[in-house]
Amino acid sequence: MTVRRRPTWVEVDLEAIRHNVRVLTPPGVQLMAVVKANAYGHGDVEAARAALEGGATWLGVALVEEGARLRAAGIEAPILVLSEFPEGSEHDALATGLTPTLYSDAGLGRLAQAISRAGSAPGPGAAVDVHVKVDTGMHRVGVWPPQETAAFVGRVRDAGLRLEGLFTHLARSEDDAPTTDRQLEVFRGALAQVRAAGHVPRLLHAANTAGTILHPSAHFDLVRPGIGIYGVEPGPGVGAALGLRPALTWRSRVTFVKRVAAGESVSYGHHHYLDRDTWLATVPVGYADGYPRVLSSRADVLLAGRRCRVAGSVTMDQLIVDCGDLEPCVGDEVVLLGRQGEEAVTAEELGGLAGTIGYEIVSRIGERVPREYR
Ligand SMILES: *Cc1c(COP(=O)(O)O)cnc(C)c1O
Repeated sequence: MTVRRRPTWVEVDLEAIRHNVRVLTPPGVQLMAVVKANAYGHGDVEAARAALEGGATWLGVALVEEGARLRAAGIEAPILVLSEFPEGSEHDALATGLTPTLYSDAGLGRLAQAISRAGSAPGPGAAVDVHVKVDTGMHRVGVWPPQETAAFVGRVRDAGLRLEGLFTHLARSEDDAPTTDRQLEVFRGALAQVRAAGHVPRLLHAANTAGTILHPSAHFDLVRPGIGIYGVEPGPGVGAALGLRPALTWRSRVTFVKRVAAGESVSYGHHHYLDRDTWLATVPVGYADGYPRVLSSRADVLLAGRRCRVAGSVTMDQLIVDCGDLEPCVGDEVVLLGRQGEEAVTAEELGGLAGTIGYEIVSRIGERVPREYR
């Protein structure tokens, strides 16, 4: 492990991830822990292991590279890449044991070719399992129109692949039940046609975190939560009753302290005017670490268990905190995100202040912030 010189780090509570997986798993249903984007900033390998310990049976990733990192760390659980393998990555992705998603003839053709080149002659009964994704209204990726699904699945089988899963993705599960119901109806329609054509997908899945929490009719055989396993709400109040525990705390320490008189202004642009004498504390974290610059003079950090406002512009590597009459000391711990004493700053709060969502706050915490696990 490399030596940490700068006192800025993220602490991840792996027991919180295990707990969240347990409470999010519906009875009799499998859970695929979505660990894309470095597990939403939490550290992919460690988060994946914790999720598996909590009962997850599958992992989901966005990139072939992400799946390969998990395999290189020795993780053997099935891993679904949630979109088609990028052109040229098919051979490596299969060799790594990643499960492909398919929804286009181009993607199917490339995958079938990669298999035949590898020498394991495709034909009915060949061992490559795939999941076919149906677009039921999200309109990102998936078979469209959904009535084409049965025919596409037929071509998948003709190419010698086996349909293990059929899935879709919900666009508004956190805030709009009618849209979700409509998507599920379309999904069930496609499924009925697939079954009528003689295919029997073993794993049906549709539910992201909000689908898992709010829509039991979306559970099918497996749920696919991401944000919830990290203890962040997918939408305002969604899951509040479940007792999800935020897994991530972003910490730093005061590196410089000064008393500054009323009438002075702070940081780049001097946008923050001091109308009273105050203590200022400098904290070594900035927008290059993923702390959004738009939080300048808006967000609070926690210092000595109290909320203190960020004073003026967040800079690339440092920010300044207005501590009022609370005299800080060099070395005092600062919590940018998480709990300190009785106070907490949540990803949802920072997302709201930054005009975005908690997902973006945690997943953009930069690579130069070391992650520690407990
Ligand atoms: C990211 C993603 C998920 C997880 O969504 P959350 O809202 O984080 O629970 C599930 N399925 C797919 C296809 C995804 O892309």
